[in-house]
Amino acid sequence: MIHKNIGMAYSLPAVRHVTKIEITIKMNKLINSFLLLVACYGYAQAQDDTTIKTIFDEALSHGKSYEMLEHLTRKVGPRLSGSPGAAAAVEWSRHVMEGYGFDSVWLQPVMVPHWVRGQQEVGRILNSKKMGTVPVNICALGGSIGTGPSGLAGQMVEVKSFDELKQLGEKNVKGKIIFFNRPMDPTKLNTFTAYSGAVDQRGGGASEAAKYGASGVIVRSMGSNITDYPHTGGMRYAPNVAQIPAVAISTRHAELLSKLLKEDKDLQFYMETHCEIFPDAPSFNVIGEIRGGEYKDEIIVVSGHLDSWDLAEGAHDDGAGCVQSIEALRIFKLMGYKPKRTIRAVMYMNEENGLRGGTKYAEMAAKNKEKHIAAIESDRGGFTPRGFTMTADDAVKKKVQGWQPLFRPYDVWDFTQEGGGADIGPLANQGVALFGFLPDSQRYFDYHHNSQDTFDKVSRRELELGAASMSALIYMIDKYGLK
Ligand SMILES: [Zn+2]
Repeated sequence: MIHKNIGMAYSLPAVRHVTKIEITIKMNKLINSFLLLVACYGYAQAQDDTTIKTIFDEALSHGKSYEMLEHLTRKVGPRLSGSPGAAAAVEWSRHVMEGYGFDSVWLQPVMVPHWVRGQQEVGRILNSKKMGTVPVNICALGGSIGTGPSGLAGQMVEVKSFDELKQLGEKNVKGKIIFFNRPMDPTKLNTFTAYSGAVDQRGGGASEAAKYGASGVIVRSMGSNITDYPHTGGMRYAPNVAQIPAVAISTRHAELLSKLLKEDKDLQFYMETHCEIFPDAPSFNVIGEIRGGEYKDEIIVVSGHLDSWDLAEGAHDDGAGCVQSIEALRIFKLMGYKPKRTIRAVMYMNEENGLRGGTKYAEMAAKNKEKHIAAIESDRGGFTPRGFTMTADDAVKKKVQGWQPLFRPYDVWDFTQEGGGADIGPLANQGVALFGFLPDSQRYFDYHHNSQDTFDKVSRRELELGAASMSALIYMIDKYGLK
């Protein structure tokens, strides 16, 4: 049937007479090429299946990410920008990457903000009719000014939004402590969506309240559950607005405070914080790479951020992302894999309170005319992998989505969501395709920025599966490119 139709189409308008035999030969050639293509594709896919299995096997049987994380969290510890811990983490990650024999390892200088918490905060609900004085768990928000040893006391006003604050206006706010108490929406299945819906209170609450003359702010912790641990996190002061102290309160004590306030409008609160802001300090991004062959000028970045909040060990945020990035390169070296493109592990400094590292990296990439084709960031915790988010043009997304069957056996399937990562964000305007490692999100905001983000909360297997998933994606991008 096909033969006849094509035969007619060729024979009718042809200038030269084409015989049926010639057409049959041409058709056979076409079919053969097609079959060869199918065979090659099948072979390539089988080869990719095998390579990806080797990657997972290595990560799960001889992986080093967990040992690396143990050292980074237990021996180095908290790593807030400008702290001795951050400096130690820089040296440690350089040492580790040199030890694994990457082709180049270097430090990229960057100036970072230097905020220090000082001695532990004091928070108290005062003169409750029912309960008297109640100590509560608070912590200063990163970047906040301190109250100093004399503390700050005052009446409170509870609000759920900036709109509500505006409606109250100066007459109800002046001289008061504003209590922002909008919870993360528990009905959002993606906890990052819930976080985005609440975090404006932490980031901008102090300046919003100060516009109406507030003396300080208490912000309900950004947590998915009711717990005793206050969650810190970055806040910023708007220009030309008075700077007032800002603290986070544990979700359990936020509930209690709200309940007591409903019963007693004159309730008072006392907060004492000792944080200080120092001049910017010198620090570094830490970079290690394996150089490519055929397209060595094309760079694929795999990354996490080295700094962490000071209240814990920064295990999920983002020790996990750092060790997974180093592990990806280590696995390639161990497999004897010779990449076509240059693969670079980057540990950014200062994601948490300034994003200076990510900004500096993109600035230097542009200045040195480097050609980055892809950047992957792991900064959603070391939990069970589900997929990757993407910020890229549609053709790239479609190509990567076509690789999904290769990841399916490892339960990595979600290539549908938009997104990248905070540190790699500044590379977007250089046309770099951005990928965010996407693990299960349900437990992340139990540990995020609080004292519970410690090594023991990370599962060895989950961490290793994440490292393997990231390596597999790099392998595919390296082999096939993104165009
Ligand atoms: Zn992070």
